[in-house]
This record gives sequence, C-alpha cells and structure tokens, in this order.
Amino acid sequence: MQTQQTFLETPIEYLKGVGPVRAELLKKELSVFTFGDLLLHFPFRYVDKSKFTKVSEVISDQLYIQVRGKLGPFRKAGTGRAIRVMADLSDETGKIELIWFQGHRWIMEKLIPGKEYIIFGKPVEFKGKFNIPHPETEEVTGEVIAPRDKLQPVYSTTEKLRSRGLDSKAIGKLVKTLVSQISGHISESLSETVLARIRLMAREEAFRHIHFPQDTVNLERAQLRLKFEELFFLQLNMLLSRQIRLYKLEGYTFPVIGNYLNTFYKEHLPFELTNAQKKVIKEIRADLGSGRQMNRLLQGDVGSGKTLVALMCMLIALDNGFQACLMAPTEILANQHYKTISRMVAGLGIKVALLTGSTKKADRKLIHQQLANGEMQILTGTHALIEDTVEFMKLGLVVIDEQHRFGVAQRASFRKKSDIPPHILVMTATPIPRTLAMTMYGDLDLSVIDELPPGRTPILTRHFTDANRLRVFGFMRSQIHEGRQVYVVFPLIHESEKLDLKFLMDGFEAISREFPLPRYAISMVHGQLSSQDKEYEMQRFVKGETQIMVSTTVIEVGVDVPNASVMVIENAERFGLPQLHQLRGRVGRGAAKSYCILMTADDISYQAKKRIRVMLETTDGFKIAEADLEIRGPGDIQGTQQSGLLNFRIADLAQDEQVLRLARNVAEEILKNDPLLDLPSNAILKRNMGSMSGNKPFWSLVG
Ligand code: ADP
Ligand code: MG
Repeated sequence: MQTQQTFLETPIEYLKGVGPVRAELLKKELSVFTFGDLLLHFPFRYVDKSKFTKVSEVISDQLYIQVRGKLGPFRKAGTGRAIRVMADLSDETGKIELIWFQGHRWIMEKLIPGKEYIIFGKPVEFKGKFNIPHPETEEVTGEVIAPRDKLQPVYSTTEKLRSRGLDSKAIGKLVKTLVSQISGHISESLSETVLARIRLMAREEAFRHIHFPQDTVNLERAQLRLKFEELFFLQLNMLLSRQIRLYKLEGYTFPVIGNYLNTFYKEHLPFELTNAQKKVIKEIRADLGSGRQMNRLLQGDVGSGKTLVALMCMLIALDNGFQACLMAPTEILANQHYKTISRMVAGLGIKVALLTGSTKKADRKLIHQQLANGEMQILTGTHALIEDTVEFMKLGLVVIDEQHRFGVAQRASFRKKSDIPPHILVMTATPIPRTLAMTMYGDLDLSVIDELPPGRTPILTRHFTDANRLRVFGFMRSQIHEGRQVYVVFPLIHESEKLDLKFLMDGFEAISREFPLPRYAISMVHGQLSSQDKEYEMQRFVKGETQIMVSTTVIEVGVDVPNASVMVIENAERFGLPQLHQLRGRVGRGAAKSYCILMTADDISYQAKKRIRVMLETTDGFKIAEADLEIRGPGDIQGTQQSGLLNFRIADLAQDEQVLRLARNVAEEILKNDPLLDLPSNAILKRNMGSMSGNKPFWSLVG
C-alpha cells in the first residue's frame, strides 16, 4: 500500500496527461513538482455558469458574466493590424457589443448571425459603454439548455503555459485526474476535538471540494476548513513558542527602581507622561519583574513618544546593574537616538555610546572593550550591534526600533549574547491592524500607545496636481517667512538609482530657482551621500540653518524637527499608505499648525486615488493601516514579505479576520488545557504543526 507521503510526493510527470514536457513547464512556471503541489494549486476564483446576466444589468467590469441572446450581423472597423470585428448580442433588455481583435475568419465562420448564443466573458468599459472582448461562445440548440456545471474553477497560469495549451481549463483537467485518485491518501491533520468543535469538513473532502465544489455552500465549507487549518497551525505555533518562553525560559528579574530612574523622573523629565505612556511602562515593568523573559511589541503612532518609554525601561535595567542597547534600522535614526538619549540623561553620569557601520576602528575597539568590562551602560546603533564581535558584560534589555525592518532572526540573535536571554522590547510606528499583529507578532505580547502628547495641532492635508505647483511654492514661501521649515520628499523608484537621483536633482533645481540663495538655504539628503554628508545636511536643517530639506525617503523614519511645519510629498501616487503616513508624521511635532501636501500627476490609478483619499480623510495610523490592508492585501504590507509569515495559500488576512480569530481562540483553548501539547489527544496537532505552517517558530532558531 502506498503511504500518503509517497502518493503526494509522486513526481508530477507520473500524472496521466502530464508527461515530461508538460512536467518541465509546470515545474518552471508554477513550481508544481509533485502531486501534492498540484493539489495545493487552488483555484483563485470560480465562475458561476448557472447564472445569466441581462444586458441591462451589466454595470461593472469587475466580474465575468454569462449572457444569453441573439447574435447580430458582423461589422469590421480599423485598418491593418488594428482591424477588429464586432457583433451585437441582444436580449430583451438591450444589446451589448462583442469584439474580436484576432481570429476573425474563424469567428465569422463559426458564429451565425441571427442564432441564439450563450456567451461568457469579462465586460470592458469603453467610452461609457460596455463591450465583451473575445467571449467564450456556445450555441443554444433546441429548447432546453443542457445542465451546466455550477461553479467552475479558474486556475492561475502563465503566458507561456497558455501558449503550450496549459490554460486554466487544461490545468483543471489535470487536477480532476489527480483528485479522482486521492481517496485514502489525504490524512486528517486536526484532532477530533477541533473538528467537532467547529464542525469542519474532513481534510480529504475539503481538497476535493476546493477544486470542484458542488455549490457555494459546499465551497465555503471547504474554504473554511482549509483557511482555518492554515491559520490555526500558525497561531498554535506562535502561541506555543510564547508558552515555551514563559514556561521554560528564565529571564532576568529587575526588582529595583533605583537612582537613575528616580532622578530622571523627578529632575530630568521635561513634561508629564501621557496616560498611554504610563500604562505601557507599567506593563513593561510587570514583565521585567516576572522572572520570565520579556518579548513585547510596543506599537505607537509616529510622535507618540516611544523613545522616552524605551529610555525609561533602559534606566530600570541600569538601576539593576545591567546594560541596555537600542538598535535602529538606519544610521541617521541611530544617530538621532544617540543624541536624544545622551541629552536626556546628561548629568546622570551614564555612559552612552553609538556604534554603527561608520564608527572608526579605534573607537569601535574602545567601545567593544567598555561593553565587555561593563563600563559602557547604554549602547545605541544600527545592526552593527548584533555583530558577533560585540560582547556585553551583562546585557539585560534590548530595544529594537522600527521592527518591520528587522527580521525574526535578528531578534533571535540577541539570545546568544548571554546565558539568560535579555528582555526584548520591539517598537514600531507602523500601526498594524490587529489581525496582522496577531499573525506576524503572535509570539510577542502587545502594548499600544494610543494617545499623542498634548498640544499637537492636527495636520491639514491637501492634494494638488502639478498644475498648481506655483501655488504650492507660494505657500511654502509664506510658511518660511513665518519662520517655519519645509520638507520636500521624492520617491525612490528602485529600478535605477541613477534615475532616482536625477529625478531628485531636477526637483532640487526647480526648488533652488524658486528659493534662491542668499535669502533661502536648502539641504539635500539622498542615499548616495556618505553618512557624514547626510549627517551634515541633516544637522543644518535641524539647527535651522536651512529652511528646506529636499530628500528621498531616507527621512522616512524617526527624525524630529519640531519647527518643520510643511511636508510636501512629490509623486505621492508612488508611495504606499504606511510611507505617506510616516512622512506626514514628520511635521506637526511643534506648536505651529502643520500641513501635508500631496503632489501627484493629473492622471493617477484608481488605487492611488484611493490611497490619497484615505490620507485626506484621516490622520489615525490604525485607520490608515486597516485601509492599507484592505486596498493592498496583507501580502504586500511593508515588511511582511521578508518575514515569510504571510505567504498564505488560501487564507487572506484582509478578509478572513473572523477565521483568524476563531483559529486563535481554539489554539488558545487547547494550550490552556495542555500548555505544551503533551496530551495524547493533541499529539496529532503537535505532529502536524511544523509541517503545516512551514514557519519555524522563533525559539527554534536559537540553539
Ligand atoms: P516616536 O513614538 O515617533 O518615536 P518620539 O519618542 O520621537 O516619538 O517623540 C516625539 C516627540 O514627542 C519628541 O520630541 C518627544 O520629546 C516628545 N514627547 C514624548 N513624550 C511626551 C510627553 N509625554 N509630552 C510631551 N512631549 C512628549
Ligand atoms: Mg521613534
């Protein structure tokens, strides 16, 4: 008897109808190597051929439709290669044009005007009217229409496959052959309890029906089963790793609130903490006193005061005789943290250092020494911090700023720096919708700063097109004359750094002409400057020596210039929502009224319009994150790709929040009764967990 393994692992060339040539194509184009791979090549949509649309009901170009009607006479239009053939299809409600750009002779021979046809295709809107290019056609013969397959699967394929005869239909045929053989080869992955608890369809049945559903109810049950499975094992994985951390991993205890924190709080803190900051510090203090390792994600919108929270936690570590470090994703940001922290703790007698890629060799060596002998108390820097040569004497707390730029592996690498793992606080200003947070950071505890420090005036956001450029320049001038400063940001287009630079330079020139020396001074920062030059240009702007900062998105995170009141974003249509939000957060940090100006071309895509509208409607980071998830889908959310966590086969976080919650609840329930999955009844879950989610849990990366 074949085992499940061998059946699903059978090379795809052994499937009837495939053979060596097609097998090569399937491997190359779709990464389908085995029977199992093909089985997991789920349809990306289904067409309902049991439904007919009336011509008058065609109102959108979003969906495939099926229309039944009488074919009118053929017409020709255009010349040469642009020649096309059209014919109307009419039903009792009106007529819609069918159009062919190729294969004219064949079409005109096959289709006979005056006869009745069922056509299937996707409408296209052109000059306010709909037409259907290259529809599938089928003649209506006799009175009765043959019973039609209800839901037909549509499979993704590629140009190349299509040209070799492997279109969606052909792939469907192969899948049908495969599905007819799976009986007895698909073993259940979920336990009886879980299956019964939510009355899930059995696994084998779900695989059958996901490809060839009998009806929508049946399809939805198959989808629910497979989506649940995918999300459930991921959640179980994450919660279990969290559980193991709590049960097994000892953490340092910081019982003392000592001199550093007290003095800082009483004598150095320039303002009241917000309630949200207080709440979060309390949560962190509880972790630090628990004897378990802290792994906490601190979410807070741009400008919500996360740095201060981080600093206070570092002071707790110091008060207990430990060292702390703060890691930032860019040198500019690391620099800024270094300066802020040095300034804030000045007079407390704390030794702070900065370590980045551009730290000189001699300085680096000294810092390494001081870290090893414990003299150095706070280290700020870039990922240079996690290089192997950096040894701490007693590292107690690691703060990681802007988490989405760092991977799980980097978080894990701190574990190696001491016997007992240091506490980890991860900060992010990219608000993540709860569903995503539950998935990406399911192994972390979550704290949220949901309140901005008082005295901030809301930022006014406006959208202008190039035609209004002079007005925008005029506005910038008036703000500068009031003593304010202005950012002008250009997008990075990635394809070519040279082109990006030229783009920026052209913009810089145009601005320089409008704002000439000596009356005005302009800073410029871009990726090709050395870090010294970047720093120099930044500092001129920070000190107010320049009124305008022209830059690429290098200023995206972190920099703090309270006097800047205008953010002009050029080609705003090229930025994603999180970036736009981050950029806008650079202004509105002082007392002055602040403005964000989104410049775009006249004609921008539908999606870009949506993004701009969201920016005009709200400044709430969480709302923006939700909108982003909705517009783009989670696979594209910044930082999720490299995390590899969200490459779902079937689940879709933007749509499947309910299923995710359900999966999370069930996983939580199970672990509540059986924290380490030791019960025999849960053995099946434990066994399938690793292979199902395909994601290594955080703790398994260590040792
Ligand atoms: P982010 O969360 O974006 O890292 P920062 O920590 O840079 O925010 O804080 C933004 C600004 O707000 C800084 O200038 C900081 O000094 C100031 N700030 C932080 N907390 C408070 C507070 N409780 N009251 C007033 N200002 C604050
Ligand atoms: Mg910050």
